[in-house]
Amino acid sequence: MGNAKVIVAGSINMDVVVRAARHPRPGETLLGQSVQFFAGGKGANQAIAAHRLGARATLIARVGDDSFGGSLRAFVSQEGLDTQRVLATGGASGTALITVADSGENTIVVVPGANGALSPVDVEVDIEPGDVLVSQCEIPAQAIEYFFVRGKRPGALTLLNAAPARPLAPALAAAVDILVVNESELATLAGTAVGARDTGTVIAAARSLQSAIGNVVVTLGERGVVACLGPVVKTVPGRRVEAVADTTGAGDGFVGALAARLAAGEPLAQALVFANAAASICVERPGAAASMPTMAEVLAVL
Ligand code: ATP
Repeated sequence: MGNAKVIVAGSINMDVVVRAARHPRPGETLLGQSVQFFAGGKGANQAIAAHRLGARATLIARVGDDSFGGSLRAFVSQEGLDTQRVLATGGASGTALITVADSGENTIVVVPGANGALSPVDVEVDIEPGDVLVSQCEIPAQAIEYFFVRGKRPGALTLLNAAPARPLAPALAAAVDILVVNESELATLAGTAVGARDTGTVIAAARSLQSAIGNVVVTLGERGVVACLGPVVKTVPGRRVEAVADTTGAGDGFVGALAARLAAGEPLAQALVFANAAASICVERPGAAASMPTMAEVLAVL
């Protein structure tokens, strides 16, 4: 159990971040100030988070046969992740075009590209009892369902981060052990209004999902976590951080850290406390994948 794997089937994207004084109007061309390229995508970020925290992490993903595909593979392999299952496919890699204006306001267009080609065959990997399977909603639902249903047979634990939120087919929901959502994803899935300040509405919405999924974990930003674990409600207050540098990647840091601790054999309630601390470190640093903490850094704030 202690040496179980974290296997993430998910997205990998190139984030192209352009800075400009303001956003262009439709039809207008502006001169920007800078352009930067960052590897991202929820799957890659979560696998990197788990790996940095000591898990034996594998990423199953698809990149395109463009130059971004090569850069993305190089990035995850430099991180030390197992990249045998980062497969190439024809066409473009997943790409996010992000424009940041001087006001700080972003516009983002994400093109799934090769992520949309991840198939059930791609997720046919060796799965052992106690392994933790992780996915998100940026790859085709059939691949996630097949991955989880197949993984449950030998006794793997399955963790779905339903981001971006989309309705879950009953067969997929039945194969999910732990659902992780933020406040707005919870509202979408439950079909009710949820207020982070009103824990009662969060618990009621999470409970409504429990007819399909036994454990529903809701992340509430600086307010921490509320989780319905079977009949038990567990709350973890947010850690007070010195300064918020960039919240991007906090959700992915949380999921990766949770998976790493579960693979190490820690009970879910305790792993939530660890993941909350790990995610709080992500917000203190810029970037997504780059902001994922190490074990020593998390232990220092626990
Ligand atoms: P994002 O999309 O920004 O990556 P998210 O919306 O998926 O994040 P959040 O609920 O905002 O997820 O954050 C995930 C977790 O990160 C929280 O449950 C908490 O543990 C931690 N966190 C986020 N923001 C803060 C903050 N300001 N202070 C402390 N911890 C935070």
